[in-house]
Amino acid sequence: DAPLIEIRDLKVHFPIKSGMLFDRTVGYVYAVDGVSLAIRAGETYGLVGESGCGKSTLGRGLLRLVEPTDGEIIFDGTDVRALKGEEMRLARRRMQMIFQDPLSSLDPRQSVQSLLVEGLKAHGLAGDKAETAKRLREALDSVGLPASALSKYPHEFSGGQRQRIGIARALALGPDLIVADEPVSALDVSIQAQVLNLMEDLQTEHGLTYLIIAHDLAVVRHIADTVGVMYLGGLVEEASSDDLYRAPMHPYTKALMSAVPVPDPLVEDRRERILLAGDLPSPANPPAGCRFHTRCPWAQPTRCGDERPALRELATGHRVACHFAEEIAAGKLRAHEVEP
Ligand code: SF4
Ligand code: MG
Repeated sequence: DAPLIEIRDLKVHFPIKSGMLFDRTVGYVYAVDGVSLAIRAGETYGLVGESGCGKSTLGRGLLRLVEPTDGEIIFDGTDVRALKGEEMRLARRRMQMIFQDPLSSLDPRQSVQSLLVEGLKAHGLAGDKAETAKRLREALDSVGLPASALSKYPHEFSGGQRQRIGIARALALGPDLIVADEPVSALDVSIQAQVLNLMEDLQTEHGLTYLIIAHDLAVVRHIADTVGVMYLGGLVEEASSDDLYRAPMHPYTKALMSAVPVPDPLVEDRRERILLAGDLPSPANPPAGCRFHTRCPWAQPTRCGDERPALRELATGHRVACHFAEEIAAGKLRAHEVEP
């Protein structure tokens, strides 16, 4: 299958400016630094990593809500970075983004109706009044909210309802791809499941493709077909959700997994405990070589500090960016203490 969207060696670097008086660039934040991945039509891709790893910037860069520094974005066969004006607006309508709290940006005196109409207007879809009203009713109906929600205000809704409104706003535009940045992280666990189930239903109903961004591995585990793990601007591992959770291969993924509590206290936890030493280095000054080498319990001199590992396919659909992934998997390398 041809992917619906593919990025190749995508980079988003932000200039760091010195004081206002001498506004010059003194360095860069390498927020996204060479990521390649592809998402098939109808697939859900879960992108996970700690805050600051670049996953949100990748989501925005994909939609050109921030302008990438380099690399390619191919959406439905078209090079998105080459599009201008009206063509870009059309492409953007097909690629919608939803956020953690979709109503937080809203003026408290602005109604849901005006939020949704705003979305349609931005894409020239709010011309005919009857047509607009029908679109909004249908969108709300799809997310399980009554048409009466239109005349209400942000404070009148619960967290789960607010996210439903965010989804309705995106749906009203008839997108193919939805990038959801932490769509359920602000919600209680029971509500999280409801919203994720709704998203799955809508995916089937509307033939949607999802990129779901989350810092919490548990959130994407069941909804994602494929999961990618980011660390300091790079993709370090990618596999089907089953493979990734059953047999993570990258030391960073192993560490993330070992931090997730085992759900059943009666089941013996045989996983290795991997505690990450030290803090996430600054994306303005990432370590040379493997970016994880300052915290990796398996780091080897001198290769890990010298050479940035490429993402290699080690089993079908399972890509890992680690020089020693095979040796670690085979138990041939011992983990060592890392000085923080
Ligand atoms: Fe650790 Fe080296 Fe693998 Fe990086 S390349 S994850 S430092 S073993
Ligand atoms: Mg984020």
